Amino acid sequence: MQILLCTPHLILAPLDDGWEIQNKQNRSRLGWLRIDQDSRLTRGQVEPEDPELLHEAAVVVGAQREQRVDPDSPLGRSLQEAFLNGDSGSENALQDICRQVVQSWQGRYADRVTATHRQLGLPEDYAEQYQLPMVQEALELSPIGQDVFERPQFMAPFAARAWRRMSRSAMADGVSMFPVSAFRSLEYQASLVQKKVERGLDIDEILKSSAAPGYSEHHSGCAIDIDAGKGKPLEEDFEETDAFAWLTEHALEFGFRMSFPRDNPHGIAYEPWHWAYTPEIWMLNLS
Ligand SMILES: [Zn+2]
Repeated sequence: MQILLCTPHLILAPLDDGWEIQNKQNRSRLGWLRIDQDSRLTRGQVEPEDPELLHEAAVVVGAQREQRVDPDSPLGRSLQEAFLNGDSGSENALQDICRQVVQSWQGRYADRVTATHRQLGLPEDYAEQYQLPMVQEALELSPIGQDVFERPQFMAPFAARAWRRMSRSAMADGVSMFPVSAFRSLEYQASLVQKKVERGLDIDEILKSSAAPGYSEHHSGCAIDIDAGKGKPLEEDFEETDAFAWLTEHALEFGFRMSFPRDNPHGIAYEPWHWAYTPEIWMLNLS
């Protein structure tokens, strides 16, 4: 089974050290992209007359690295600008941006995650055990209104836009959806786990229902727990609501997918209420 990344016009197929860019219609090879160990982004053989395709590819590679770059944010705009102009000045600017993002991701953040895990006494092989990638905190947030507990909630700007589009569309079909929890910081996730530890729950049990700090999709600002406004939120019977039925049919049209279906390979409990926006990427399994 080969996992490919797919944008509106392109397919990115993994190479040993990067991604091959293909035309989605006829699968012809357009070029390649790579971010190497020094966080330098290089590209090759892409048709120079296809700047939009290059941008699409850059955003996808950025997102694949869990950088979640919003094309409309200042960072996204510089990325786009630098990427589209082939001169060496821009190339350096682009590499500076990549270096900045990747360093803050690899260094400072990973250190904070490790320190938090030690404090909570989490297993050192957590990432391998649960097969979960580390998730960076969103670089930018925008408000999506209050949740069912009247707490203000936030998502990454592009995910917030997609959530608004999706919930409006559901509303037009007569289906109500309310946020329960969207963006969570590393510290907030740590406090959720800490509370369960204090209640005397076993650490393995806790980790089946709460991701370890640093590994929650909620850090990205792209995940949202959804409630139908009936009954208790975050219960398995959410799958019997009209909201769940609507999401199952339409969420992908808005870029949202359910992260933890029944019997998922991570060994995380079934969470029918937890949906995540994956910017401009649809994972396709083409076997
Ligand atoms: Zn969730």
